[in-house]
Amino acid sequence: MKKTTIKKYAKLIVRIGANVQKGQSVTISCAADQAEFCAMVVDECYKAGARYVAVEWHDDRVTKLTYRHETLKTLSTVLPWQEEKMKWMSEELPCRIVILSDDPDGMKGIDPTKVKKARIARYKVSKPYSDAMESKYQWTIAAVPGEAWAKKVFPGMRKGKAVEKLWQAILETVYVTDDNDPIEVWNKVNADFKERCKKLTSYRFDSLHYTSSNGTDFTVWLMPRSNWCGGGEFDLNGHYFNPNMPTIEVFTTPMKGRAEGRLVSTKPLSYQGQLIENFAFTFKDGKVVKVEAEKGQKLLEEMVSTDEGACMIGEVALVPQDSPISNQGILYYETLFDENASCHVALGRGYADCVEGYGEMTLEELRELGVNESMIHVDFMVGAPDLSIVGRTKDGKEVQIFKNGNFAI
Ligand code: ZN
Ligand code: ZN
Repeated sequence: MKKTTIKKYAKLIVRIGANVQKGQSVTISCAADQAEFCAMVVDECYKAGARYVAVEWHDDRVTKLTYRHETLKTLSTVLPWQEEKMKWMSEELPCRIVILSDDPDGMKGIDPTKVKKARIARYKVSKPYSDAMESKYQWTIAAVPGEAWAKKVFPGMRKGKAVEKLWQAILETVYVTDDNDPIEVWNKVNADFKERCKKLTSYRFDSLHYTSSNGTDFTVWLMPRSNWCGGGEFDLNGHYFNPNMPTIEVFTTPMKGRAEGRLVSTKPLSYQGQLIENFAFTFKDGKVVKVEAEKGQKLLEEMVSTDEGACMIGEVALVPQDSPISNQGILYYETLFDENASCHVALGRGYADCVEGYGEMTLEELRELGVNESMIHVDFMVGAPDLSIVGRTKDGKEVQIFKNGNFAI
Protein backbone atom coordinates (compact mmCIF):
# COMPACT_ATOMS: atom_id res chain seq x y z
CA MET A 1 0.00 0.00 0.00
CA LYS A 2 1.35 3.43 -0.95
CA LYS A 3 2.39 5.62 1.95
CA THR A 4 0.72 8.67 0.37
CA THR A 5 -2.59 6.76 0.20
CA ILE A 6 -2.35 5.68 3.83
CA LYS A 7 -1.58 9.28 4.80
CA LYS A 8 -4.74 10.37 3.01
CA TYR A 9 -6.66 7.91 5.15
CA ALA A 10 -5.11 9.34 8.34
CA LYS A 11 -6.17 12.82 7.24
CA LEU A 12 -9.68 11.58 6.46
CA ILE A 13 -10.04 10.15 9.98
CA VAL A 14 -9.01 13.47 11.52
CA ARG A 15 -10.92 15.84 9.22
CA ILE A 16 -14.11 13.90 8.44
CA GLY A 17 -14.17 11.29 11.24
CA ALA A 18 -13.38 13.32 14.36
CA ASN A 19 -13.39 16.70 12.60
CA VAL A 20 -10.75 18.01 15.01
CA GLN A 21 -11.12 21.76 15.56
CA LYS A 22 -8.47 24.37 16.23
CA GLY A 23 -7.56 24.44 19.90
CA GLN A 24 -9.21 21.10 20.79
CA SER A 25 -7.61 18.23 22.67
CA VAL A 26 -7.61 14.73 21.23
CA THR A 27 -7.23 11.28 22.76
CA ILE A 28 -6.35 8.35 20.51
CA SER A 29 -6.64 4.66 21.35
CA CYS A 30 -4.29 2.49 19.29
CA ALA A 31 -2.51 -0.86 19.39
CA ALA A 32 1.23 -0.65 19.99
CA ASP A 33 2.05 -2.42 16.69
CA GLN A 34 0.33 0.35 14.72
CA ALA A 35 2.64 3.13 15.88
CA GLU A 36 3.56 4.24 12.37
CA PHE A 37 -0.04 4.81 11.34
CA CYS A 38 -0.83 6.39 14.69
CA ALA A 39 1.98 8.90 14.19
CA MET A 40 0.37 9.93 10.89
CA VAL A 41 -2.94 10.48 12.67
CA VAL A 42 -1.25 12.50 15.43
CA ASP A 43 0.50 14.61 12.79
CA GLU A 44 -2.83 15.30 11.07
CA CYS A 45 -4.41 16.26 14.41
CA TYR A 46 -1.77 18.93 14.98
CA LYS A 47 -2.13 20.12 11.38
CA ALA A 48 -5.85 20.53 12.07
CA GLY A 49 -4.92 22.77 14.99
CA ALA A 50 -5.15 20.35 17.92
CA ARG A 51 -3.76 21.83 21.12
CA TYR A 52 -2.92 18.54 22.82
CA VAL A 53 -2.92 14.93 21.58
CA ALA A 54 -2.62 11.93 23.92
CA VAL A 55 -2.22 8.34 22.70
CA GLU A 56 -3.41 5.42 24.82
CA TRP A 57 -1.40 2.39 23.68
CA HIS A 58 -2.53 -1.18 24.16
CA ASP A 59 -1.53 -4.65 23.05
CA ASP A 60 -3.67 -7.80 22.77
CA ARG A 61 -1.02 -9.96 24.46
CA VAL A 62 -0.63 -7.59 27.40
CA THR A 63 -4.41 -7.26 27.84
CA LYS A 64 -4.73 -11.04 27.88
CA LEU A 65 -1.97 -11.38 30.50
CA THR A 66 -3.65 -8.73 32.62
CA TYR A 67 -6.95 -10.63 32.66
CA ARG A 68 -5.21 -13.95 33.25
CA HIS A 69 -2.97 -12.94 36.15
CA GLU A 70 -4.65 -10.12 38.03
CA THR A 71 -7.20 -10.94 40.70
CA LEU A 72 -10.80 -9.88 40.18
CA LYS A 73 -10.33 -7.34 42.95
CA THR A 74 -7.39 -5.70 41.20
CA LEU A 75 -9.12 -5.79 37.82
CA SER A 76 -12.17 -4.17 39.38
CA THR A 77 -10.26 -1.30 40.93
CA VAL A 78 -10.18 2.11 39.30
CA LEU A 79 -7.00 3.79 40.49
CA PRO A 80 -7.10 7.44 41.60
CA TRP A 81 -5.13 8.67 38.55
CA GLN A 82 -7.48 6.77 36.24
CA GLU A 83 -10.49 8.45 37.80
CA GLU A 84 -8.76 11.83 37.59
CA LYS A 85 -8.32 11.20 33.88
CA MET A 86 -12.04 10.47 33.44
CA LYS A 87 -12.82 13.65 35.33
CA TRP A 88 -10.47 15.61 33.09
CA MET A 89 -12.10 14.12 29.99
CA SER A 90 -15.62 14.97 31.18
CA GLU A 91 -14.55 18.60 31.64
CA GLU A 92 -12.19 19.00 28.70
CA LEU A 93 -14.31 16.94 26.23
CA PRO A 94 -11.41 15.92 23.96
CA CYS A 95 -12.17 14.44 20.52
CA ARG A 96 -11.80 10.70 20.73
CA ILE A 97 -10.23 8.64 17.92
CA VAL A 98 -10.25 4.85 18.19
CA ILE A 99 -8.00 2.96 15.78
CA LEU A 100 -9.03 -0.69 15.69
CA SER A 101 -6.69 -3.50 14.63
CA ASP A 102 -7.39 -6.15 17.25
CA ASP A 103 -7.23 -9.91 16.84
CA PRO A 104 -10.90 -11.11 16.89
CA ASP A 105 -9.66 -14.15 18.87
CA GLY A 106 -7.24 -12.16 21.03
CA MET A 107 -8.87 -13.01 24.35
CA LYS A 108 -9.56 -16.66 23.62
CA GLY A 109 -9.48 -18.78 26.78
CA ILE A 110 -10.11 -15.89 29.21
CA ASP A 111 -13.02 -16.47 31.59
CA PRO A 112 -15.90 -14.25 30.40
CA THR A 113 -17.39 -14.12 33.92
CA LYS A 114 -14.21 -12.54 35.29
CA VAL A 115 -14.14 -9.99 32.46
CA LYS A 116 -17.79 -9.13 33.00
CA LYS A 117 -17.52 -8.73 36.78
CA ALA A 118 -14.50 -6.46 36.46
CA ARG A 119 -16.24 -4.33 33.82
CA ILE A 120 -19.34 -3.95 35.99
CA ALA A 121 -17.26 -2.85 38.96
CA ARG A 122 -15.28 -0.29 36.95
CA TYR A 123 -18.41 0.99 35.24
CA LYS A 124 -19.83 2.06 38.61
CA VAL A 125 -16.98 4.57 38.85
CA SER A 126 -16.88 5.60 35.18
CA LYS A 127 -20.64 5.97 34.58
CA PRO A 128 -21.14 9.51 35.97
CA TYR A 129 -18.24 10.73 33.81
CA SER A 130 -19.47 9.06 30.63
CA ASP A 131 -23.01 10.34 31.32
CA ALA A 132 -21.60 13.85 31.67
CA MET A 133 -19.91 13.52 28.26
CA GLU A 134 -22.85 11.95 26.40
CA SER A 135 -23.42 13.58 22.98
CA LYS A 136 -21.05 16.44 23.86
CA TYR A 137 -17.89 15.54 21.95
CA GLN A 138 -16.71 14.27 18.56
CA TRP A 139 -15.59 10.66 18.28
CA THR A 140 -14.73 8.25 15.53
CA ILE A 141 -13.79 4.61 15.13
CA ALA A 142 -11.67 3.49 12.16
CA ALA A 143 -9.53 0.44 11.49
CA VAL A 144 -6.10 -0.61 10.24
CA PRO A 145 -5.01 -4.20 9.62
CA GLY A 146 -3.29 -5.93 12.53
CA GLU A 147 -1.38 -9.11 11.56
CA ALA A 148 -3.48 -11.57 13.55
CA TRP A 149 -6.69 -9.96 12.35
CA ALA A 150 -5.56 -10.07 8.69
CA LYS A 151 -4.65 -13.76 9.06
CA LYS A 152 -8.11 -14.47 10.48
CA VAL A 153 -9.83 -12.73 7.55
CA PHE A 154 -7.54 -14.25 4.89
CA PRO A 155 -6.41 -17.54 6.47
CA GLY A 156 -4.83 -19.03 3.35
CA MET A 157 -2.36 -16.17 2.84
CA ARG A 158 1.09 -15.34 4.12
CA LYS A 159 1.11 -12.67 6.82
CA GLY A 160 2.41 -9.83 4.64
CA LYS A 161 0.03 -10.63 1.82
CA ALA A 162 -2.95 -10.88 4.20
CA VAL A 163 -2.14 -7.48 5.73
CA GLU A 164 -1.85 -5.91 2.27
CA LYS A 165 -5.13 -7.46 1.19
CA LEU A 166 -6.90 -6.22 4.35
CA TRP A 167 -5.49 -2.72 3.76
CA GLN A 168 -6.99 -2.75 0.27
CA ALA A 169 -10.35 -3.97 1.57
CA ILE A 170 -10.46 -1.38 4.38
CA LEU A 171 -9.50 1.54 2.13
CA GLU A 172 -12.13 0.49 -0.39
CA THR A 173 -14.82 0.67 2.32
CA VAL A 174 -13.84 4.24 3.24
CA TYR A 175 -13.52 5.39 -0.40
CA VAL A 176 -9.78 6.06 -0.32
CA THR A 177 -7.97 5.42 -3.61
CA ASP A 178 -4.48 6.38 -4.81
CA ASP A 179 -5.76 9.32 -6.79
CA ASN A 180 -9.06 10.60 -5.37
CA ASP A 181 -10.03 13.14 -2.73
CA PRO A 182 -11.86 10.99 -0.16
CA ILE A 183 -12.99 14.06 1.80
CA GLU A 184 -15.04 15.16 -1.20
CA VAL A 185 -16.56 11.68 -1.51
CA TRP A 186 -17.53 11.65 2.17
CA ASN A 187 -19.22 15.03 1.91
CA LYS A 188 -21.40 13.63 -0.86
CA VAL A 189 -22.05 10.38 1.05
CA ASN A 190 -23.15 12.37 4.10
CA ALA A 191 -25.58 14.41 1.97
CA ASP A 192 -27.13 11.16 0.65
CA PHE A 193 -27.52 9.83 4.19
CA LYS A 194 -29.38 12.96 5.18
CA GLU A 195 -31.99 12.41 2.46
CA ARG A 196 -32.55 8.73 3.26
CA CYS A 197 -32.89 9.41 7.00
CA LYS A 198 -35.32 12.25 6.42
CA LYS A 199 -37.52 10.00 4.29
CA LEU A 200 -37.52 7.10 6.78
CA THR A 201 -38.23 9.42 9.70
CA SER A 202 -41.18 10.98 7.85
CA TYR A 203 -43.13 7.67 8.08
CA ARG A 204 -43.01 7.77 11.91
CA PHE A 205 -43.22 3.98 12.13
CA ASP A 206 -44.68 2.60 15.33
CA SER A 207 -43.26 -0.90 14.82
CA LEU A 208 -41.05 -2.96 12.52
CA HIS A 209 -41.75 -6.62 11.73
CA TYR A 210 -38.81 -8.78 10.57
CA THR A 211 -39.26 -12.16 8.85
CA SER A 212 -36.80 -14.48 7.17
CA SER A 213 -36.74 -18.21 6.29
CA ASN A 214 -33.87 -18.78 8.78
CA GLY A 215 -36.37 -18.54 11.65
CA THR A 216 -36.42 -14.80 12.25
CA ASP A 217 -39.91 -13.58 13.16
CA PHE A 218 -39.52 -10.51 15.28
CA THR A 219 -41.31 -7.26 16.05
CA VAL A 220 -39.79 -4.20 17.67
CA TRP A 221 -41.59 -0.96 18.58
CA LEU A 222 -40.16 2.52 18.12
CA MET A 223 -40.66 5.67 20.19
CA PRO A 224 -42.94 8.37 18.72
CA ARG A 225 -39.82 10.56 18.63
CA SER A 226 -37.41 7.97 17.14
CA ASN A 227 -35.50 9.64 14.31
CA TRP A 228 -33.53 7.66 11.71
CA CYS A 229 -29.86 8.58 11.69
CA GLY A 230 -26.86 7.72 9.52
CA GLY A 231 -23.54 9.06 8.30
CA GLY A 232 -22.31 12.18 10.04
CA GLU A 233 -23.97 13.84 13.00
CA PHE A 234 -23.66 16.92 15.22
CA ASP A 235 -22.61 16.85 18.84
CA LEU A 236 -24.32 19.20 21.28
CA ASN A 237 -21.53 21.73 20.81
CA GLY A 238 -22.40 21.98 17.13
CA HIS A 239 -19.46 20.02 15.71
CA TYR A 240 -20.20 17.67 12.81
CA PHE A 241 -18.39 14.29 12.87
CA ASN A 242 -18.61 10.73 11.52
CA PRO A 243 -18.63 8.24 14.41
CA ASN A 244 -17.91 5.19 12.23
CA MET A 245 -15.61 4.80 9.27
CA PRO A 246 -16.81 3.00 7.20
CA THR A 247 -20.55 3.42 7.54
CA ILE A 248 -23.45 2.27 5.39
CA GLU A 249 -26.20 1.80 7.98
CA VAL A 250 -29.20 3.94 8.78
CA PHE A 251 -30.38 3.32 12.32
CA THR A 252 -32.72 4.40 15.04
CA THR A 253 -33.27 3.95 18.75
CA PRO A 254 -36.28 1.76 19.54
CA MET A 255 -38.59 1.84 22.54
CA LYS A 256 -36.99 0.12 25.50
CA GLY A 257 -38.81 -2.99 26.67
CA ARG A 258 -41.01 -3.50 23.62
CA ALA A 259 -39.86 -6.38 21.39
CA GLU A 260 -41.33 -9.81 20.71
CA GLY A 261 -40.24 -12.92 18.82
CA ARG A 262 -37.07 -14.59 17.59
CA LEU A 263 -34.05 -13.02 15.91
CA VAL A 264 -31.55 -15.32 14.22
CA SER A 265 -28.03 -14.02 13.71
CA THR A 266 -26.47 -14.41 10.27
CA LYS A 267 -22.80 -13.66 10.98
CA PRO A 268 -20.35 -14.59 13.76
CA LEU A 269 -19.78 -12.02 16.48
CA SER A 270 -16.46 -11.21 18.13
CA TYR A 271 -17.33 -10.10 21.66
CA GLN A 272 -14.54 -9.14 24.06
CA GLY A 273 -12.01 -10.92 21.89
CA GLN A 274 -13.90 -14.22 21.64
CA LEU A 275 -16.09 -15.56 18.85
CA ILE A 276 -19.78 -16.41 19.10
CA GLU A 277 -21.23 -18.35 16.16
CA ASN A 278 -24.68 -19.46 14.91
CA PHE A 279 -26.81 -17.88 17.58
CA ALA A 280 -30.34 -16.59 18.16
CA PHE A 281 -32.28 -14.59 20.74
CA THR A 282 -35.92 -14.94 21.72
CA PHE A 283 -37.64 -11.85 23.15
CA LYS A 284 -40.68 -11.50 25.35
CA ASP A 285 -41.94 -8.17 26.74
CA GLY A 286 -38.85 -6.54 25.31
CA LYS A 287 -36.36 -8.79 27.08
CA VAL A 288 -34.22 -11.71 25.92
CA VAL A 289 -35.77 -14.81 27.47
CA LYS A 290 -33.80 -17.42 25.53
CA VAL A 291 -30.25 -17.53 24.18
CA GLU A 292 -29.14 -20.20 21.70
CA ALA A 293 -25.57 -20.49 20.38
CA GLU A 294 -23.60 -23.26 18.69
CA LYS A 295 -20.37 -21.63 19.84
CA GLY A 296 -20.00 -19.16 22.71
CA GLN A 297 -23.22 -19.96 24.65
CA LYS A 298 -21.71 -19.02 28.02
CA LEU A 299 -20.20 -15.81 26.69
CA LEU A 300 -23.56 -14.81 25.20
CA GLU A 301 -25.38 -15.58 28.46
CA GLU A 302 -22.87 -13.45 30.37
CA MET A 303 -23.37 -10.69 27.83
CA VAL A 304 -27.16 -10.45 28.15
CA SER A 305 -26.96 -10.56 31.95
CA THR A 306 -24.33 -7.83 32.27
CA ASP A 307 -26.88 -5.41 33.71
CA GLU A 308 -30.60 -4.66 33.61
CA GLY A 309 -30.52 -3.11 30.14
CA ALA A 310 -28.22 -5.67 28.50
CA CYS A 311 -31.12 -7.98 27.59
CA MET A 312 -33.04 -5.18 25.86
CA ILE A 313 -32.60 -3.55 22.49
CA GLY A 314 -30.87 -0.21 21.99
CA GLU A 315 -30.58 0.04 18.21
CA VAL A 316 -32.08 -1.23 14.97
CA ALA A 317 -30.15 -0.61 11.75
CA LEU A 318 -30.89 -1.12 8.08
CA VAL A 319 -28.22 -2.18 5.57
CA PRO A 320 -29.14 -3.55 2.15
CA GLN A 321 -27.65 -6.86 0.97
CA ASP A 322 -26.66 -5.02 -2.17
CA SER A 323 -24.24 -2.46 -0.72
CA PRO A 324 -20.51 -1.84 -1.16
CA ILE A 325 -19.26 -3.64 1.96
CA SER A 326 -21.70 -6.52 1.62
CA ASN A 327 -20.68 -6.94 -2.02
CA GLN A 328 -17.04 -7.35 -1.02
CA GLY A 329 -18.10 -10.73 0.35
CA ILE A 330 -15.52 -10.53 3.15
CA LEU A 331 -16.26 -11.70 6.67
CA TYR A 332 -14.21 -9.26 8.78
CA TYR A 333 -14.91 -10.74 12.26
CA GLU A 334 -15.05 -7.07 13.30
CA THR A 335 -18.37 -5.39 13.98
CA LEU A 336 -17.32 -2.03 12.51
CA PHE A 337 -17.32 -3.71 9.09
CA ASP A 338 -19.67 -6.66 9.44
CA GLU A 339 -22.46 -4.45 10.81
CA ASN A 340 -22.21 -2.42 7.61
CA ALA A 341 -22.69 -5.51 5.47
CA SER A 342 -25.91 -6.54 7.15
CA CYS A 343 -29.05 -5.33 8.88
CA HIS A 344 -28.32 -5.45 12.57
CA VAL A 345 -29.79 -4.97 16.00
CA ALA A 346 -27.91 -4.00 19.15
CA LEU A 347 -28.47 -5.18 22.67
CA GLY A 348 -27.81 -2.60 25.36
CA ARG A 349 -27.45 1.15 25.36
CA GLY A 350 -29.56 3.21 22.97
CA TYR A 351 -28.30 6.36 21.26
CA ALA A 352 -29.98 9.40 22.81
CA ASP A 353 -29.21 11.52 19.75
CA CYS A 354 -31.69 9.52 17.63
CA VAL A 355 -34.50 11.14 19.64
CA GLU A 356 -36.18 14.22 18.19
CA GLY A 357 -35.22 17.23 20.29
CA TYR A 358 -32.68 15.32 22.41
CA GLY A 359 -30.65 18.47 22.96
CA GLU A 360 -33.40 20.02 25.07
CA MET A 361 -33.82 16.98 27.33
CA THR A 362 -31.82 15.60 30.21
CA LEU A 363 -30.43 12.07 30.02
CA GLU A 364 -33.02 11.03 32.62
CA GLU A 365 -35.87 12.43 30.51
CA LEU A 366 -34.56 10.61 27.44
CA ARG A 367 -34.38 7.32 29.33
CA GLU A 368 -37.89 7.96 30.57
CA LEU A 369 -39.04 8.22 26.95
CA GLY A 370 -37.65 4.75 26.22
CA VAL A 371 -33.93 5.05 25.43
CA ASN A 372 -32.36 1.90 26.86
CA GLU A 373 -29.52 2.22 29.35
CA SER A 374 -26.72 -0.31 29.74
CA MET A 375 -22.94 -0.48 29.98
CA ILE A 376 -22.93 -2.65 26.84
CA HIS A 377 -23.90 -1.88 23.25
CA VAL A 378 -23.38 -5.00 21.13
CA ASP A 379 -24.46 -5.14 17.50
CA PHE A 380 -25.29 -8.48 15.93
CA MET A 381 -26.16 -9.18 12.32
CA VAL A 382 -29.55 -10.36 11.12
CA GLY A 383 -29.52 -9.41 7.42
CA ALA A 384 -30.40 -12.23 5.03
CA PRO A 385 -31.09 -12.52 1.28
CA ASP A 386 -34.79 -13.06 1.95
CA LEU A 387 -35.22 -10.68 4.88
CA SER A 388 -38.49 -8.77 4.87
CA ILE A 389 -39.15 -5.77 7.12
CA VAL A 390 -42.62 -4.27 7.28
CA GLY A 391 -43.14 -0.96 9.04
CA ARG A 392 -46.47 -0.22 10.69
CA THR A 393 -47.61 3.28 11.53
CA LYS A 394 -49.73 4.21 14.57
CA ASP A 395 -52.88 4.28 12.42
CA GLY A 396 -52.25 0.76 11.10
CA LYS A 397 -50.78 1.58 7.69
CA GLU A 398 -48.23 -1.02 6.56
CA VAL A 399 -45.19 -0.19 4.46
CA GLN A 400 -42.75 -2.75 3.05
CA ILE A 401 -39.37 -1.23 4.02
CA PHE A 402 -37.18 -4.21 3.08
CA LYS A 403 -37.89 -6.97 0.59
CA ASN A 404 -35.46 -9.79 -0.23
CA GLY A 405 -32.77 -8.14 1.85
CA ASN A 406 -32.88 -4.76 0.10
CA PHE A 407 -34.74 -1.47 0.50
CA ALA A 408 -38.23 -1.55 -1.02
CA ILE A 409 -38.89 2.16 -0.48
ZN1 ZN B 1 -25.42 0.20 13.94
ZN1 ZN C 1 -24.53 -0.25 17.13
